[in-house]
Amino acid sequence: MATVSFWGGIGVIGSSKILIEQDGWRVLLDFGLDFTPGRGLFRGPVSPRPGHALKDRLRTGGAPWLPHLYRPEAVQGLDLPGGSDGRTALFITHAHLDHIGLTGWVDPAVPLYCSPDTQRLMEALAQSGQDVEGGHPRFQVIPDGGTIAFGPFRVTRYPVDHDVIGASGYAVETDDGILAFTGDIRLHGRHPELSLAFADAVHGARALVIEGTTLSQGFQHITIPESEVDRRFASALAQTPGLVMMTLYPRNIERVTAFLALAQNQGRRILWPEPTARFLRALGLQPIDSLADTGLDEIVAHPEGYVVQMALDELPLLLDLPTGPGSVFLHANGEPLGPFDPAWEVLQDWLKWTHTPFWPIGTGGHASPDDLHRLVEWVAPEIVFPLHSQEPDRLIPPPGTVRWLPERGGRRYPLSGRSRRGTP
Ligand SMILES: [Zn+2]
Repeated sequence: MATVSFWGGIGVIGSSKILIEQDGWRVLLDFGLDFTPGRGLFRGPVSPRPGHALKDRLRTGGAPWLPHLYRPEAVQGLDLPGGSDGRTALFITHAHLDHIGLTGWVDPAVPLYCSPDTQRLMEALAQSGQDVEGGHPRFQVIPDGGTIAFGPFRVTRYPVDHDVIGASGYAVETDDGILAFTGDIRLHGRHPELSLAFADAVHGARALVIEGTTLSQGFQHITIPESEVDRRFASALAQTPGLVMMTLYPRNIERVTAFLALAQNQGRRILWPEPTARFLRALGLQPIDSLADTGLDEIVAHPEGYVVQMALDELPLLLDLPTGPGSVFLHANGEPLGPFDPAWEVLQDWLKWTHTPFWPIGTGGHASPDDLHRLVEWVAPEIVFPLHSQEPDRLIPPPGTVRWLPERGGRRYPLSGRSRRGTP
């Protein structure tokens, strides 16, 4: 009998970890860090202790207490067996820390799978000094539509659209039918056809685990098309006589590529903080210029020729840049990620102090509530588990689909039971 249990993503956005078990074999989908800005024991100046980081996370519920998953030395002294049992494999949906951030602790003998683009991003991050905590994970790649047979399971990876390249959904075939997982998904991005093809491919699944980021009423999430983001960026460049500053999430490589071209068209160069420049160069993007290479004097002399990507820890740089009326600060989903992040107010205070206009131009990586419901209708699963949401009960299942609100941790939900309506 196959079961599924949930070790994160319950009542929170992020930290997804879905465990599917059958005949003593285990498939784990995603292995992310908690993402709770302003909340949790490890926030602000407090980080897990170096040398004890995994133990600190395990003891405070930030990493799942699962045997035969972690490197033995990382769990030494805990009542938790480390090392691989040869019957566990991990599959990662995409390169956001709330889905991949714990993979540095995984025993190297546990196979770790992802898309080719996710592996490429993680290698570039490692090369630029931004590897995940714990160690450098070695990923094996599955091509689009490729299937891995593991014990009694067959796991197929499908590309989906999200605000990072290489985002994937999975279908896990068990003796009790297919469990499909969307990962993070949207229909308003550059490749809605990928998300729709995934929904088609897993139509009629026994169970669908779907993210529900935008379901919370208090969650301000803009879902304009990416093409509209490009248009707003181009229009800000055209309308601003002075310096353009921005915060763009660098892992959104497709948007970085689009912005590089748009800036070049209007005679501006984008200047990146040094670690971001190293990351983008490692991916082979060009032209990638850094603030350090260009120099402040040049920017002050020719503000109309530049776009400066600002890092949160470099905000005092605003005191030296030509800010004020005539300049603009664009928020394109970089850090701080939104008003829920305490750093949002800090940024606003700096912009007020320097009299810099602020213009949010971004769009979210997550499907709107309407699109989430559309996806569930297309898949028409027997059971839907809304996950990765502050208010998962706002997902209303269509007729014929049962909604189960998952509990965190040890509860195993059987996938056997009701008669199946046929398998995809
Ligand atoms: Zn994501």
